[in-house]
Amino acid sequence: EVTIRDLTKSFKIDGETLTVLRKVSLDIRGGESLAIVGASGSGKTTLLRVLAGLEEPDGGDVLIDGAPVHGLGRERAVIFQEPRLLLWLRVLGNVAFGLEVQGVDRAEAEERARRYIRLVGLTEFETAWPRQLSGGMAQRVGIARALTVQPEILLLDEPLGALDAMTKMTMQEELTRIWDEEKVTMVLVTHDLEEAIYLADRVLVLPKEKGGSVRLLDIDLPRPRDRNGARFVTFRK
Ligand code: ATP
Repeated sequence: EVTIRDLTKSFKIDGETLTVLRKVSLDIRGGESLAIVGASGSGKTTLLRVLAGLEEPDGGDVLIDGAPVHGLGRERAVIFQEPRLLLWLRVLGNVAFGLEVQGVDRAEAEERARRYIRLVGLTEFETAWPRQLSGGMAQRVGIARALTVQPEILLLDEPLGALDAMTKMTMQEELTRIWDEEKVTMVLVTHDLEEAIYLADRVLVLPKEKGGSVRLLDIDLPRPRDRNGARFVTFRK
């Protein structure tokens, strides 16, 4: 359960203050899948980075299960557009890395990593080097790596943005399957409305506003998922 209240975030650029998020309030229910869409520059990535604890807000509260967020805790994992794999480690080593950093011994870390490598369909590539992988495969490794630490909240910033259309579609299906199986809370930033509607239970539209509070458009999407978008949409606000 994530609670955001009156979140404000500005950046100083050449002495000028740019307020990107102004008094944003939002609740994210445990287990839900929320997509954040909006124009370029509307602050989607900034909101996700604040949620990840990678960016300090200027004002307001960000609480996870009632506790304020400070830095990236173990209950959250982030997936970026580029998976940034460690080139000197094989697929298995990359996926197990996060657990090893947490102090889990190698044998156990690798055993747990294997489960997630299987989940993303890369068992045959366990011993491959990152340079041998296609973009889609590398991102699958990134997803497995994030899931291996068993986060409660998965934060995804344009995770499929760098992939070709076909790979993207396959990966969208994989993400929905993984999400259904793992029951994690997903917060997904995307440029792609169709992707948002396909992957999420709820779509949040961040408007780009000059001044005033941010008015969020908060849309609930009923299941089942339908790629053709032939679904009923209820507007809550
Ligand atoms: P896009 O869809 O293009 O990725 P976005 O909605 O994710 O955009 P953000 O990346 O959150 O938007 O950026 C919002 C605004 O804040 C932009 O004008 C950007 O230039 C500015 N910004 C973001 N991060 C910083 C930073 N670290 N320093 C200065 N300005 C920043």
